[in-house]
Amino acid sequence: MKSAPITRRELLKTASLFGGGACLAHLVPASIGRAYALVQQVAAPADPLAAMRAQMAAAPIEALTLSDTLTMLSGPGGNVVVLNGPDGKIVVDTFVQGVWPALTQRLDAMGNAPITLVIDTHWHFDHTDNNESFRNAGAGILAHENTRKRLSEPHDLLGMHFNPAPAAARPTDTFTETRTMQANGERVDLGYIPPAHTDTDIYIHFTRANVLHLGDLFFNGMYPFIDTSTAGSINGMIVGAERMLKMANATTKIVPGHGPLGDRAALTTYRDVLVDVRDRVRKLKAAGRTVEQTVAAKPTAHLDATWGKGFMQPDVFVTIVYSTL
Ligand SMILES: [Zn+2]
Repeated sequence: MKSAPITRRELLKTASLFGGGACLAHLVPASIGRAYALVQQVAAPADPLAAMRAQMAAAPIEALTLSDTLTMLSGPGGNVVVLNGPDGKIVVDTFVQGVWPALTQRLDAMGNAPITLVIDTHWHFDHTDNNESFRNAGAGILAHENTRKRLSEPHDLLGMHFNPAPAAARPTDTFTETRTMQANGERVDLGYIPPAHTDTDIYIHFTRANVLHLGDLFFNGMYPFIDTSTAGSINGMIVGAERMLKMANATTKIVPGHGPLGDRAALTTYRDVLVDVRDRVRKLKAAGRTVEQTVAAKPTAHLDATWGKGFMQPDVFVTIVYSTL
């Protein structure tokens, strides 16, 4: 079908729909950010990033045992997975800055092995915010090369401003396609997921325990955020989910970036929802509907009661999907 970039006029209308035109200079991300702020009923905090960090850090850390060496930690940001054993601790994602003391307390309680490595699933702050603290604690940082690139740039996203990350918070080691390592009796396969949620996404597959961390390619049970400012798209999300389904089997434990631990059935349902929304929005766009008209048509009404209760409000999700088609 025709694929045209979202026009400025459509953006103006969308921003107007979301309650005003004050943030038009920032185009799509700002309009989304404003809508998100409205959804959260945050009264325009002076520093939205600090407010979001504080809000996330207030969540308690919950632990779930995945295998004899793997633990999932949830709560203050993206889901963290720890591979623990005599070879040292490998930590996937890092939560937000405010929970560093609580996070280290959890890690220390797992045993005396040093933290040798942090793996970033992608560049977003709720996954990389403690990179520098981990570096200072002696760990290396491994990520896709685009994560290093994105962390080296300024960004404006969801109403939040990000300065380039300090050098100590950037990956010390990167890869482009795949990487494999052995530690603590586990084989760890990492691979690049072509642009989906961002252009920095990777999967981490702990093959012996059959645990697959998908970062923010997978929001379990809720509409996902898609970061169009760093090349995310609905079609990329669907292609990525399809590819990960082929990697999983019926007993794979699938860790999402956000939401509870999932499995192949949960990832299949999620993929189906993405396809459903994409197809409905694409049909409206192909029929000439503006983004405002598409949102007003409520193409996700049949899903919203279940899928619209998470990070992404339905109207915002539809706007993002529309903008990437
Ligand atoms: Zn993310």
